[in-house]
Amino acid sequence: MEQVAQNYDIIIIGGGILGTSISYFLSFLNKSKKIAVIEQASDVADHTSGRNTGKVHAPYLYNPEKKKLFAKAAFHGYEMWEKYSQLKDLPFKKDGVIEVALDEKGIKVLEKYLKWAKQNGLKDEDIKLLSKEEMKKIEPEIECVAALYVYKDASADYAIFTKSIMQDSKESGTEFLLDSKVTEIKNKDDSWKITLNGKREITTKFLINAAGGEAINIAHDIGVAKNFTDVHFRGEYWIVPKQYHNLTKTSIYSVPEFPDYPFLDPHWIIRVDGSCEIGPNAVPVFSPYGYNKTENIKEFIPKMLEMLGSGARKAVFDRQFQELALSEIQSSMSKSTMINRVKRFLPNIDSDKITQKGTAGIRSSVIDENGKFVPDVILIDEKKSFHILNYNSPGATGALPFAAHIVNHLNKTGLFENENNDAQCGPWKFSEIIEKLEK
Ligand SMILES: Cc1cc2nc3c(=O)[nH]c(=O)nc-3n(C[C@H](O)[C@H](O)[C@H](O)COP(=O)(O)OP(=O)(O)OC[C@H]3O[C@@H](n4cnc5c(N)ncnc54)[C@H](O)[C@@H]3O)c2cc1C
Repeated sequence: MEQVAQNYDIIIIGGGILGTSISYFLSFLNKSKKIAVIEQASDVADHTSGRNTGKVHAPYLYNPEKKKLFAKAAFHGYEMWEKYSQLKDLPFKKDGVIEVALDEKGIKVLEKYLKWAKQNGLKDEDIKLLSKEEMKKIEPEIECVAALYVYKDASADYAIFTKSIMQDSKESGTEFLLDSKVTEIKNKDDSWKITLNGKREITTKFLINAAGGEAINIAHDIGVAKNFTDVHFRGEYWIVPKQYHNLTKTSIYSVPEFPDYPFLDPHWIIRVDGSCEIGPNAVPVFSPYGYNKTENIKEFIPKMLEMLGSGARKAVFDRQFQELALSEIQSSMSKSTMINRVKRFLPNIDSDKITQKGTAGIRSSVIDENGKFVPDVILIDEKKSFHILNYNSPGATGALPFAAHIVNHLNKTGLFENENNDAQCGPWKFSEIIEKLEK
């Protein structure tokens, strides 16, 4: 085995949009520290960050009390991505989104979303509740009983954003170790010894775990978050042929029937490049990379054993969960079952005309010891490490402010002190981002 080759001050595991954004701020605030991002894939945003719906969400779906930080991050994330895309000339389309209610119960949910949106900082002109008749005039193809038009919602390509942030972070001093899988982490005196690809060893004084669907495993390896486990859900998409591209002007979401579970109904999506897709569903799979059968078969036994020995057992044996999971599996096996879920509000599509699958992305939802899905992100401080678990939607929207929050948190708690908390980070002054987040 090669001997220790490199010593770092801080290492971030995970070159998704979050880990890359954390490195961005750290690199501007710490010019003389040695910082690296470790990513197992050959590029950043190879997994969830490059395989999502691509919406920059206004915070109308998030309870301001229960998901305050997420809602704030989404609110400021929208403005930050808009500014960043202008600066770098990257695609960002302010095209809005419409959330439709399909029954009376759904109208109550829309009213609640409107209230949350206002509490989370949206203005009257950003969001409007529309009657069925008003909606028909705007989008004649849509069938619903009421709708929430969120004007302040946008479309983007988060893989492009992440790659650009990586470039800036690199120019500011971060090293990106790509094609490097963390295979072992060991406590060594006052630092961590990290093995990459089972061969090369590096050390770091501080470690940030932003490993997305593998964050729980890495936390467990270090001996933290033992009371949590996770379940992975594959979100599949179908590409809609050109003949349907003008069916609506806006992306359409429907009110989720079971918001306590990670099963959202598939949406009608208009992407930033104008292409159209239907999705995602949420099919339970056995790995954060379970895009295909081979990976799922390989991970089936270890994942089942892990789940049965943890709180996930209760979730797996929950009747409601089983029914929902079964219906998601059906919508994976049968294209028309999936398309029919969208036909409830967009009846004039013919599933026979839809033949091409889109790129699936995987969401990893954390379950606590009581078998309940944890609704919010989990942040864990440890003496020499920091862990971000359950960082789910709208994680890409909020990645920049959330990363700034984490960097500020580490500094405030003394876990990792920045050299200059007032540095200019690209178009933003760090202290001003924090001021806005703490307001
Ligand atoms: C189907 C779907 C649709 C979504 N739609 C939206 C949306 O429209 N808008 C929005 O804001 N959010 C959306 N999200 C959520 C958003 O995509 C995620 O919150 C976000 O991408 C999470 O970023 P991340 O950096 O934490 O994780 P990831 O992108 O998963 O990055 C983690 C990285 O860590 C690396 N890694 C893991 N283990 C190791 C290891 N041992 N060694 C080296 N590297 C490792 C992985 O390779 C990976 O690249 C969606 C999510 C899904 C699944």
